[in-house]
Amino acid sequence: MSVEPTTKLSPPKADYQPPAWKGPSREEVLETRQKHVNPGIFHLYKNPIMVVEGRMQYLWDDTGKQYLDAFGGIVTVSVGHSHPKVNGAVKEQIDHIQHTTTIYLHPNIGMYAKNLSDHFPEGLDVSYFTNSGSEANETAILMARLFTGNETVVALRNAYHGGTTGALGLTAHGTWKYPAGPPQNVMHATPGYCYRCPFGLSYPNCAMKCAHDLDEKLRYESTGKIAAFIGECLQGVGGVVVPPKEYFGIIYETVRKYGGVVIADEVQGGFGRTGEHFWAFENWGVKPDLVTMAKGIANGYACGGVTTRMEIAETMKQRLHFNTYGGNPVSMAAANATLQVIDEENIQQKAKEIGGHLKGRLEALADKHPLIGEVRGMGLMLGVELVRDRKTKEPANTEAVELLELARERGLLLGKGGLFGNVLRIKPPMCLTRDDADFLADVVDEALGIIEEKR
Ligand code: PMP
Repeated sequence: MSVEPTTKLSPPKADYQPPAWKGPSREEVLETRQKHVNPGIFHLYKNPIMVVEGRMQYLWDDTGKQYLDAFGGIVTVSVGHSHPKVNGAVKEQIDHIQHTTTIYLHPNIGMYAKNLSDHFPEGLDVSYFTNSGSEANETAILMARLFTGNETVVALRNAYHGGTTGALGLTAHGTWKYPAGPPQNVMHATPGYCYRCPFGLSYPNCAMKCAHDLDEKLRYESTGKIAAFIGECLQGVGGVVVPPKEYFGIIYETVRKYGGVVIADEVQGGFGRTGEHFWAFENWGVKPDLVTMAKGIANGYACGGVTTRMEIAETMKQRLHFNTYGGNPVSMAAANATLQVIDEENIQQKAKEIGGHLKGRLEALADKHPLIGEVRGMGLMLGVELVRDRKTKEPANTEAVELLELARERGLLLGKGGLFGNVLRIKPPMCLTRDDADFLADVVDEALGIIEEKR
């Protein structure tokens, strides 16, 4: 039995009242899931929540309880749940044709590819669409290997790039590694994770050892020729890790010195989320050769993609390659409408302003709560690393679980990540308001107070 929380906090009231839930009970749903759905598909919370309705930044469960969604369907609902313009575009499309194939012409794929290319620096203007981020990364690696004629791919430690075999090989998080299908020709380099610097150094006196180490690594461990480097410009699943500003410039230069192309995984950081820039890589003044996308691209409709230059893209022509659902008219309509909303509703500017306000509030909480080790991130991609002791930096992972439960009781859904599961991940739909941000910070404040009092 759940205990009513002793709190005055509740999310700002949405101007929407969902209909009463008339579907199967939560218990029935849980039972069918436990019996018939692969148990590897895990759920969050001791008592899993059943979400049945969503409008913009808010969700409702089967009991009618409203939540502020600060995790956005895992960084996927970029402009708001059930956004009328995105859903409207999908409804209009399915009334004409719901699926066709890329072996016939349909206007949506080219139209979206063109609109997307208008959001990239010059030269990045040819796209291949997939259904997910994993597929996008697999396709990018394929193109990089074909283009360079080399095999070795370098990814970063603490990175997550997907759940398919190749993408799992790129992923460097012990918790996500299975004892099956060892990665082939993949190396892992050191991320710019200053809070847990593996060399025990401090920025800026470190002389950027983490980035320069790649040159030495490739000299010792590679044939002298590599196909590609793939990296997120802010690590998402890894716990919102933001490197020093010079980091990616050094990495990109080294990769090119060894004959590789650079792939920026923008699955989480793209589409304005980091606020200042449309793409996360732009924060570092670098230009990748290939960019992979998914999640926020279509506000929750299954879609992914790789954008690159024609000279790299045309390597795919040498054999046949096909993705049955990639670039289908419905996903393309959703992606195109999402892009339009991002532009027309100043979504990137909102991510910058509201994200900046929220980060300031979280940083202020660090003065009061010793459990906060570090507040990181940009725009509306924020992380709070929790530690039991600021000196030893012992990860406060059970405390993070408890905080998520307390937040849930108060009507706030947060994410968590990092190798130890001790980093709060805050990546809401980017229509978040200032009042929502204040509510979020108040809940984190109250929950940390409760946890700290018990210690
Ligand atoms: N890259 C990054 C950075 C991701 O965060 C994810 C998903 N968490 C992926 C790739 C894989 O995307 P998908 O789950 O759509 O295959």
